[in-house]
Amino acid sequence: MQTASKIFVIAGPSGSGKSTLLKRLFAEYPDTFGFSVSHTTRAPRAGEVNGKDYHFVAKDVMEREVADGKFIESATFSGNMYGTSVKAVEDVVETGKVCMLDIDMQGVQAVKKTNLNPRYICIRPPSLEILEQRLRGRGTEKEEGVLARLEAATRELEYAEQPGVFDRIIVNDDLEAAYKSLKEAIFTQ
Ligand code: 5GP
Repeated sequence: MQTASKIFVIAGPSGSGKSTLLKRLFAEYPDTFGFSVSHTTRAPRAGEVNGKDYHFVAKDVMEREVADGKFIESATFSGNMYGTSVKAVEDVVETGKVCMLDIDMQGVQAVKKTNLNPRYICIRPPSLEILEQRLRGRGTEKEEGVLARLEAATRELEYAEQPGVFDRIIVNDDLEAAYKSLKEAIFTQ
């Protein structure tokens, strides 16, 4: 099966289910897709593996590497730094796999200014109310974190709805249906 691009950006509010959908895609097609492992200064969550889910780094290290031009894009989200290094994308592209980036909307805006030329897919929740339930339900964030993520989600959804920003917007109401739509968006006929 052919994919529509060699690089995909998967964006959408925190809690919209991007990571869950991507994990399923990697499990089903381990030889086709590779994950661009971002750097972050946030603390690892239970079960997250350094070098696999993220490169977990100290703020001063990340600031220095950003200043040294090692990042394609970087952003501050909910009080922590996140970024895609040039190497993260190169490592996947070198294996011949299709590279998947999971980034926020600031990252989308920054990537649009580069020559990466990916396809852009947005995973969105059915509503902000449902997003709030999901964010609280997964229990990874303190109250402050939940509120910051909801505020970001409001802005992110407004941006995502502007014409031409995304090639495809998938509403993640039902995981099975969203996964099917994601595969449709990724594979060309
Ligand atoms: P989380 O803390 O929930 O893992 O991620 C928070 C937000 O940061 C998510 O929207 C996620 O897509 C975004 N994010 C993860 N990695 C990167 C990155 O490298 N760059 C940017 N701009 N955002 C990222």
